Amino acid sequence: MPYDMVYGNGNSNVRVVDLRTDTLTKPTQAMRKVMAVAEVGDSVFGEDPTVCKLERRCADLLEKEDAVYLPSGTMCNLIAIMVHCNKRGVEFIAGNKSHVNLHELGGSAFLAGVHCSQITNKPDGTFCLQELQGRIKVKLDIQEPTTALIIVENTQNMCGGKVLPLEWLDDLAKIASQYKIPLHMDGARLMNAVVQSKVPAKRIAKDMDSVFFCISKGLACPMGSILCGTKSFIAEAKRMRKMLGGGVRQVGILAAAGLLALDEMIDRLQVDHDHTYQIAKAINDLQSSVIRVDLSSVQTNILLVEVDSKIIKGRDFLQKLNEVSESDTTQVCVRGGAINDGEVRFVLQWEVTDEDVNCAIEKIKMVVSQIHDDLKRRGKKRRLS
Ligand SMILES: *Cc1c(COP(=O)(O)O)cnc(C)c1O
Repeated sequence: MPYDMVYGNGNSNVRVVDLRTDTLTKPTQAMRKVMAVAEVGDSVFGEDPTVCKLERRCADLLEKEDAVYLPSGTMCNLIAIMVHCNKRGVEFIAGNKSHVNLHELGGSAFLAGVHCSQITNKPDGTFCLQELQGRIKVKLDIQEPTTALIIVENTQNMCGGKVLPLEWLDDLAKIASQYKIPLHMDGARLMNAVVQSKVPAKRIAKDMDSVFFCISKGLACPMGSILCGTKSFIAEAKRMRKMLGGGVRQVGILAAAGLLALDEMIDRLQVDHDHTYQIAKAINDLQSSVIRVDLSSVQTNILLVEVDSKIIKGRDFLQKLNEVSESDTTQVCVRGGAINDGEVRFVLQWEVTDEDVNCAIEKIKMVVSQIHDDLKRRGKKRRLS
């Protein structure tokens, strides 16, 4: 698990608002219906009509030649690395806060023999392009691995769901083409970027040699991601998929949910973004010196909350949000993830309702005011305002 998770107390009278992550999404009732009647076949042989349809639609959506439906986003990144860097001892460049660097067990090194060269992510999810240029190594050197790929993440999860600016992507593409280095986009939450920026997915992906997005997160499908690229890239990706044991068979049952998600679950991501902002605004309105948000940086469905770890650690703040005692006026348990002592993360998704959001806000207000009461009692001079 990428970060600490705090779990509830099991009291069934308590409303649980689970904001740990958007992988918690369950398929909708409509999805379950189309899944039950989906046409299927052996998708390793390319004979599952529903999978073929999903792959075609996604390739068209991103204006790429072809696509492949894979079990996970992690496998999409790994396969993209394996295909683009098809030589041991080369490197790819990715942000230090990227999923591929932090949360994939170093699979690129373990399984592909490819080194990850980390470049510092800025708070907006980008990195310095001048620094990038300085790091790209194209000539054979006695000491240095050569650069074979650049990976960007959109939206950037650990920077708080940041949408990469188009101008930055365009400038990056110029550099990549100048050095003839392919670009891969980890677009696990690409559709959140599309909804937030109102820029079509194909425009965002225009200069990407490969790109994937998850249908399993905010789009609510039970499994998978779709990796898109050129025909030859996808042909090779399918070979790697088989080698990694990802050649799954009658998954039209799952792809059917994916097709429905493309129709019904993308535009509604705006609701999650609005909910995220609502919670951020409520925290900001508290004007607390201990629990803070940067309201201007909230863009999509991920909220980073700063916690003054000298007063309370992120994990302990979450513990307080998670605990409910019988005398509490708000019988609500809020769950989140602790990134580190000074930062916690909340993620919104379709199952979290307006009512849940209001309850979560009440609970957060209560806990923050308790923290300040404790502070006063302990004789510290900090104040709410
Ligand atoms: C979740 C996620 C992945 C991996 O997807 P899985 O399907 O969980 O393997 C990759 N990149 C980012 C940015 C993610 O948030």
